[in-house]
Amino acid sequence: MNAQATTARVHPLPKQLNPMLRSFLIYLSQAAWAKRLIMSLGAARRMARRFVAGDSLSDALHAVRKLNAEGMFATLDLLGEHTADAADANASTAKIIHAIQQIAESEVRSGVSIKLTQLGLKLDLALVEGNLRQIVQAAKEHQIFVRIDMEDSPWVDTTLGLYRTLRAEGLDNVGVVIQSYLYRSEADVLALIAEDARIRVVKGAYMEPAERAFPEKADVDAAYDRLADLLLHAGHHLPAASGAGGPWPPMLAVASQDPKRIEFAKKHAAELGIPKEQVEFQMLYGIRRDLQVALAREGYPVRIYVPYGREWYPYFMRRLAERPANLWFFLSNLVRR
Ligand SMILES: Cc1cc2nc3c(=O)[nH]c(=O)nc-3n(C[C@H](O)[C@H](O)[C@H](O)COP(=O)(O)OP(=O)(O)OC[C@H]3O[C@@H](n4cnc5c(N)ncnc54)[C@H](O)[C@@H]3O)c2cc1C
Repeated sequence: MNAQATTARVHPLPKQLNPMLRSFLIYLSQAAWAKRLIMSLGAARRMARRFVAGDSLSDALHAVRKLNAEGMFATLDLLGEHTADAADANASTAKIIHAIQQIAESEVRSGVSIKLTQLGLKLDLALVEGNLRQIVQAAKEHQIFVRIDMEDSPWVDTTLGLYRTLRAEGLDNVGVVIQSYLYRSEADVLALIAEDARIRVVKGAYMEPAERAFPEKADVDAAYDRLADLLLHAGHHLPAASGAGGPWPPMLAVASQDPKRIEFAKKHAAELGIPKEQVEFQMLYGIRRDLQVALAREGYPVRIYVPYGREWYPYFMRRLAERPANLWFFLSNLVRR
């Protein structure tokens, strides 16, 4: 199978099944028994390759070089989350710092994205803070940009708090992610705008209760456009910056494969006279390649999130959950083999 295939031949599911299936797949993404089972299936590994650049850093750098040749930037993500002990958290930190050094040495245009639960967020605040600081300081030596991914809602306050701690220490090569499905996000964005933050806006990939997040997709989409609009009005004064990994993302990074969200941002940016280089579009490796290439050809900065490593299971399951049709494709491959 082509690892970069953009669309699979799929059978649509009845619409009302999608939210239930999504919840079930996200539950499975965190279940140890399901991880053992699914990771042992060759068909799962092959399908995961559509979304993951490979097992090693060199696989990932190879993918980044190809993207760079097409005029796109990248952000590298060493797969892994919810690390169980300090030794693993420290080992992941060392691997991410090594990736940063390799980005600088190999002169690819890429930053890194990190998950704080991989660095020990669930274990000990001092541990995760120390690991995060080491990574952002190592990246700062080369002016490489570090994005802190946002995980599920119990971690949002701590994640934003740690981001602010580093900014207060003068480390400016770091940005955050805001999820439009959370009710709190508009207030977070307004506060972050006042702090000149570089923000990636996403819809949100986790299972959240209705007390914290919009249950309906239409509300998540509308909230997404509101956040993009707030950032478009506020963000174009932020100075451009760049380093060994290429330019840093501007204040607004529209991270979505949804053509309607992308069109909204393009249209409003044009109406406000914002230059193309001040709105970055970000997409996931292996999803909507056609859209990625088209936006880059139109002259927008496009950054692809490139995951690599052996811990592909939860990332893969979240990709299945986003598009249940992927699940059908996966199951039909399994049965055929
Ligand atoms: C660069 C980047 C970084 C991200 N970082 C985070 C993060 O830190 N925290 C977080 O919670 N979430 C993150 N996400 C995931 C995000 O929250 C969404 O779950 C994901 O992007 C799907 O939403 P969508 O905006 O593409 O819209 P959707 O409405 O889900 O999808 C729009 C269209 O995109 C295509 N598409 C979307 N997903 C898939 C898929 N899995 N397989 C095939 N086609 C697909 C389909 O054509 C679909 O119709 C990130 C996403 C991107 C692009």
